[in-house]
Amino acid sequence: MKILVTGGAGYIGSHTCVELLKDNYDVVVLDNFSNSCQEALNRIQRLANKKLSFYKADLLESPSVRQVFKDHKIDAVIHFAGLKAVGESTCIPLKYYHNNLTGTFNLLSIMGEFNVKTLVFSSSATVYGDPSTLPITETFPLSATNPYGRTKLMIEEILQDLHTSDKDWNIALLRYFNPVGAHESGELGEDPQGLPNNLMPYISQVAVGRLPRLSVFGADYDTPDGTGVRDYIHVTDLALGHIRTLPKLAEKPGVVIYNLGTGNGFSVLEMINGFEKASGQKIAYQVTDRRPGDIAACFADASKAKRELNWEAGKSLDDMCKDTWNWQKKNPIGYRTQPKEE
Ligand code: NAD
Ligand code: UDP
Repeated sequence: MKILVTGGAGYIGSHTCVELLKDNYDVVVLDNFSNSCQEALNRIQRLANKKLSFYKADLLESPSVRQVFKDHKIDAVIHFAGLKAVGESTCIPLKYYHNNLTGTFNLLSIMGEFNVKTLVFSSSATVYGDPSTLPITETFPLSATNPYGRTKLMIEEILQDLHTSDKDWNIALLRYFNPVGAHESGELGEDPQGLPNNLMPYISQVAVGRLPRLSVFGADYDTPDGTGVRDYIHVTDLALGHIRTLPKLAEKPGVVIYNLGTGNGFSVLEMINGFEKASGQKIAYQVTDRRPGDIAACFADASKAKRELNWEAGKSLDDMCKDTWNWQKKNPIGYRTQPKEE
């Protein structure tokens, strides 16, 4: 089976490509390197000891996307490509709407032209807004509080409409909770450009001495220790969730929706402690004001994915911290530690 992976050079995409190749899928990656680089692709192929096909192309440019479908008989698409920084999306919303929505429109129309109607879409727990109870099931009400979240919500609705109009489409909406960690080899990981927005890369950059201290955004939430609680999931578990989704789509289920999380919530202070234990490094931090837009707590009910996909997250908080630290130590300045082109 041949899978097109859009955004396959990125953080989650790169880990998914390794698992796809290991599982003997043929892999074609399309990425414009707006938030990634060639070195990630080199390493995917080294780790899997297999080749993939690569197109440096932008989803906004239909002719180059069409070329991929002309060159390859694609069976299914895993669509990771998109811009993902919540804060940035509030400053440059049009860029987010254009890239994420128009990019997806182009992809979907070209898939339609070539009669490729099987899609896995990277959605996010952000579509649940501020949930009134926990854990969150797939049937919870949806809302979004920022342009990034709205792109996810809008694309989910567009994909539902597409299936309503044409029942040949089979689509999985995978709602990720908080992906963290890195490949156990330390060769692949998250490589944020500039100051990290997310907790785990921030902690690991403090640990490695790139940043002086972490700001803990609020210690007065209604949570056991007052700091924000999230459902952190190891990126390799997340990657495997995509692999388990492909046979489900082959059953032609229409639109299916799954939470991909562990079902456990950890606070910011628990994450700091976990990282200190796994790395042996002290994490300097100070408590500051809440970050605007943040919610107190969010964790998944992931039982539907277990029931229907036979998937559940296997890795512990210790694995997440150890693997992040291993990646950070080996690659203190990310992929730029290595030459970008082979
Ligand atoms: P990432 O930025 O590491 O990967 C996205 C990739 O898409 C990058 O390699 C980038 O170069 C590429 N890309 C972006 N726009 C493109 C375009 N127009 N044409 C071609 N390539 C393009 O992000 P990630 O963390 O791997 O996230 C992957 C997907 O999962 C995204 O859609 C993101 O919104 C979603 N998601 C991520 C998280 C998270 O915390 N990382 C959580 C929930 C959902
Ligand atoms: N957080 C923090 N300091 C940071 C980054 C994040 O205290 O520098 C907190 C944030 O308030 C939230 C948790 O860590 O409670 C996870 O934040 P992240 O941005 O990683 O994920 P999201 O809030 O999008 O779920």
